[in-house]
Amino acid sequence: MRRQRPTLIAVSTLIAITLTTAAPTPANAAPPEQVTALTAHQADGYTTLAWQPVDGATDYQIERTPVDADNTPTGVPTIVGIWRPNRQINQHAPTFADAGYNPGDTFQWRVRARTGTTEQPYSDPVTATTTAPWGNPATPGEQLRTGWETTHAAQYTSDTDEYAYTAAIDALSDRVRVVELGRTVQNRPINMMVIGHPTPAATPEAVAATAPVAINCNVHGNEPGDREACLIMARQLAFSTDPRITDLLSNTTVLIVPTINGDGRANNTRGNSTGQDLNRDYSLIRQPETTAYIRMVRDYRPVAGYDGHEFGNSRAGDLPMLPPRHQNVAQPIFDQSQDMIEGHMYAKGAEAGWWACPYGCEGGGNVGLSEETILRNTLGLKNVTNSLLELRSSGGQTRPDEGNTANNRRRKTYSALWTFQQFLDYHRADRADILTARSDAIESQAANTGRLVFRGSRPIPAHPAPHPGDSPPPLDAPPADLILDNAPCAYKLTDAQYNGARTDGPGGVGTTVAQRIAAHGWKVIKTGDGYYVPLNQPERGLIPLLLDAKGVEKLTDGERVYPTLTGRRNGPLTVTGFTCADDATINGPVTVRAGAALVTTATTISGPVSATRAAGVLLADTTVNGPLQITSTTDAISIIDVTIAGPVNLSGNTTGTDAPVLAGTTIRGPLNCTGNNPAPTNLGIANTVHGPRTTQCAAL
Ligand SMILES: [Zn+2]
Repeated sequence: MRRQRPTLIAVSTLIAITLTTAAPTPANAAPPEQVTALTAHQADGYTTLAWQPVDGATDYQIERTPVDADNTPTGVPTIVGIWRPNRQINQHAPTFADAGYNPGDTFQWRVRARTGTTEQPYSDPVTATTTAPWGNPATPGEQLRTGWETTHAAQYTSDTDEYAYTAAIDALSDRVRVVELGRTVQNRPINMMVIGHPTPAATPEAVAATAPVAINCNVHGNEPGDREACLIMARQLAFSTDPRITDLLSNTTVLIVPTINGDGRANNTRGNSTGQDLNRDYSLIRQPETTAYIRMVRDYRPVAGYDGHEFGNSRAGDLPMLPPRHQNVAQPIFDQSQDMIEGHMYAKGAEAGWWACPYGCEGGGNVGLSEETILRNTLGLKNVTNSLLELRSSGGQTRPDEGNTANNRRRKTYSALWTFQQFLDYHRADRADILTARSDAIESQAANTGRLVFRGSRPIPAHPAPHPGDSPPPLDAPPADLILDNAPCAYKLTDAQYNGARTDGPGGVGTTVAQRIAAHGWKVIKTGDGYYVPLNQPERGLIPLLLDAKGVEKLTDGERVYPTLTGRRNGPLTVTGFTCADDATINGPVTVRAGAALVTTATTISGPVSATRAAGVLLADTTVNGPLQITSTTDAISIIDVTIAGPVNLSGNTTGTDAPVLAGTTIRGPLNCTGNNPAPTNLGIANTVHGPRTTQCAAL
C-alpha cells in the first residue's frame, strides 16, 4: 500500500487570522513574489512544508521559530532549510522535510522565495506542534525509548542499551523474535530482530517463504544514524496497531540487524576491532561479523534489502542511494533496485520533502563502484533487490542550522526512518515484481550464459531533469583484462585449496575456503580428482570473483573447467568423473555412475536420466524428454529451469547440510520425493508439476 500524499493541515485557521488582520487589500492580492498556501504536515521526527511555487524563484528559504502555546516566540527565527530545484523530481509542488528539532515541540514556519540574491516577502506563517517520539508513554512496549531518544540525541544508544531495548521488545511483543546471528571479534552479540504478524514464522526456512526484507543498520561503527532509526522502527513494528503496520507484517517478515559491527560502534571506528572495513568483506567473509550476515542471507533468503551508512559530502542530497551495479548482477535485479530508488524513493521523497539522489550526486566523487566485497553488490549478486543508503553526515548548504549536533543527528536518523518505512511500503506494493525479478535473475544466472566481469559497474544515467541531484556516480567500465568472455562450466579446487588452513582472518586465523563456500550456500561436488564448484547456480556471478585467477579480491586460483560435452551425441551415455554438458543434444539414456557428477546447461536429453550414488547432479536451462531418477546422491542436487517429461523421483539423497534445489522447473508427470535429508527446497520459485507430488515435494 502506497502512502497518500501528505494532507495539508493548519492552513485555514491561519489564513483566517491573516485575513482579519491584513491591510485592506483583496484577500487574493498577495504580491506574486510571495509564497502562498504554506502548509505543515507532521510525521515521525520531521515536518513536511509545502507551498505554491513562485514564478522566477531560484530557491526558497525555510524559516523556523520556536513558539509557546500562545504562539509567542521563545527563540529567534532561524533559516533551517534551503530548497533548490534539483532536490525533487516535480517542480510544481515544492516540499521540504524540516527535521532537526526536539520532536513534540511547537514551531512557526515561514517560507520565502529568492530571485537570484533578492529575498522576496515571507509567506504567512503556519504554526504547529510536531509529533512526539512514537509510542504512548503509558502503554507497555510503546513506552520503551532508546538511549538516543532519552538523551534527546545527545548520546547514541550504547551497546548494552541496545541489548536491553531489543530484549524488552522481544519480551513484550509476540511479533518479535530476537536471534543471535553470531559474535563479533570481541564477543559482542550480533542480534537480528525477526518481526512478523501475529508472530514471526518459526524457522529460517519458514521465514524465507514469506519473502522477507532485511535492513543492515550499522556496518561502519562511526556512521550511527541509521541504527537509531532501526531501533525506533522496530518499536513501531512491534507495537503499532496502525492497519498499515499489521498489513505489512502479515505479508512479509522484517529482518533488522541493528549492529553487525558492535565493536566498531562501541569504539566509534569505521572498521571492526581488527581495523577491517566490514563493507569490503561480504564476499571474502574473512571476519566473523560478515560471515554471520552472509549465513543469515543464505538461511533467511531476504528478497530485498537496505544497507545504512553516512556520507561526508556536504553538498549531496539528504539521502544518496545506489543499486547493486556490478555487471555480474542479473539485469532484473539491477532494474528492480533502480525502480525502488528512482521509481519509488524519488517520487515519495518529493511528497515528503526528502531529497533522495544517486550516491555521488552533487560532486560526490568517485563512489559507489563495483567491488563485490560491498554488501550492496554482494546482495545483488545473491539476487536481492537492494540499495545503499548514505545519510549526508553534515547539514551542508541546504540545512544551515545543523551546527547544533543533536539537530544534525535527528535529521539523519529521522530521514533514515522515513527511508526504511518507505522500503517496507515498496516491498508491500511491488512484492510480485520483486519476486519475478528474483526468479528471472536466478534462472538467468543458473543458465551460465554471457561474459563474466571481475570488476566493472553498470552506468547510472542521470535522472531526467528536473532531477534529484546531478552527477550520478562515474561509469566504472570494466577494463579489458578483467573480462572473461568464455565462462567456464565450473572451478576445480585441490584439497589444499579447499580445506587448507588460511591466515586472512582476525588474529591470522581464518576459516577455510570450504567453510566460506558453505556460508555462501554454493553447491560443491567432490569427485576423485578434486572439488568442483559449478557455475550453473543462482550465484553464478559471484563464484568466479572468489575462485578465478582473475579475481581482484579472491579466495584462491581455482582451475577453470570447460564443458566436455557439446553438440549432438547419439547412443547411451555413461557419466564417470565430472561431466559438463553445454549446448548439447544427447539422444539416448544417461546413466551417472557412483561418485560421478553431471552438470548441464542449454542441453536437451532424449531418454531417461538415472543417477545412483552420484556425487552430484546439477541441471539448469535443460530439457529431459524422459524420466529423471536421482537416488542416494552424496554431495549436491540442483534442478533449475528444467523441463522434464517425467516422472521425477528424488529419493534417499543425503547431501549434508545442503538442501537439494528444485526450482522454476516444469514436470509433465508425477514428482516423488522421499527419504531425502535434507528435504528439497524450491528457493521460493515455484515449480509446475502436472502429476501428483509426494510429501517432501508437496509444497514445491
Ligand atoms: Zn559507510
